[in-house]
Amino acid sequence: MKANSASRLPHHLPATAQVVALAGGVGGARLADGLAQVLPPENLTIIVNTGDDFEHLGLYICPDLDTVCYTLAGLANPATGWGRADETWQALESLGALGGPTWFRLGDRDLGLHLERTRRLRMGQNLSQVTRHFCRALGIAPTVLPMTDDATPTWVYTIEGELPFQEYFVRRQCQPQVTGFRFEGAERARPSPGVLEALNKADLVVICPSNPWVSIDPILAIPGVRPAVQARRAVAVSPIICGETVKGPAGKMFLELGITPSALAVAKHYADLLAGFVLDREDENLVEQIHALQVQTLATDILMKTPQDRARLAKEVIEFGLRLSCTS
Ligand code: GDP
Ligand code: CA
Repeated sequence: MKANSASRLPHHLPATAQVVALAGGVGGARLADGLAQVLPPENLTIIVNTGDDFEHLGLYICPDLDTVCYTLAGLANPATGWGRADETWQALESLGALGGPTWFRLGDRDLGLHLERTRRLRMGQNLSQVTRHFCRALGIAPTVLPMTDDATPTWVYTIEGELPFQEYFVRRQCQPQVTGFRFEGAERARPSPGVLEALNKADLVVICPSNPWVSIDPILAIPGVRPAVQARRAVAVSPIICGETVKGPAGKMFLELGITPSALAVAKHYADLLAGFVLDREDENLVEQIHALQVQTLATDILMKTPQDRARLAKEVIEFGLRLSCTS
């Protein structure tokens, strides 16, 4: 039996529902874009992981914030999921020809944004202020918040030693076997202005289909965030379909940490935070085990290939989540 199917719900969404999404980069941005398509902008706040942020070539780079913002602005590169569409690479080529580091790819258009972010941060603005300004300039209407304005870089423990996140992810192509993670300084960090306020007044908190280990856990590690999410009882969407990640190393990380990657493993990872879990129809055989965690399920198509897929999934997630909060 499929519990809490959203199919019987009215086709309109309550106009006043406040939705907060927690997001990393590619998977997070896809669902965030769906939510932005179906909700009025004043009803949506997206809290984005900044654990991937780092300084490179003297520039301050925020990969997940940029992926979310480029996606919401319709500027994202649809092939990669990160970076901008219609990108050129002349600055990077010139850098390489002079012997500079090219392992982290920065396109010409993307570089312009990093230059301006870095300039504003050096002028004394914080990341929230810069992000607000960029959203206004790019025509992004929902509220996009970095999880914190403090630096909380993610470190990846591997059998070869500890690596800064981008060294692991980009330079080493996620090859070293993972043994754990550390979010440096997270325990002293403050949530950025608006984060706890948005969570505390949310009718629904959505954990996007992002990497649980390195996109969502860093957000939950910011003091006050996990209890606020727990109090709202969130709905999470699985980043794993049929035991595999759509993109990126989440499945490999589960495996290396001794956990069979599956939608069930993701549901278990978040179980204490969840009222509901959204998984793919292909994984319907897992629903009984997820119900045993006291988590309700919605089995639907969760692969987002097109903007229409994103909107359809977002609508289903909202209807499912709001229905759960009415009945709990
Ligand atoms: P990153 O910061 O760019 O690594 O992005 P995220 O952590 O937000 O997203 C990576 C996760 O998104 C991976 O675990 C993917 O499996 C998942 N993902 C990407 N596209 C989709 C999709 O269309 N549907 C679902 N359910 N998950 C997706
Ligand atoms: Ca990321």
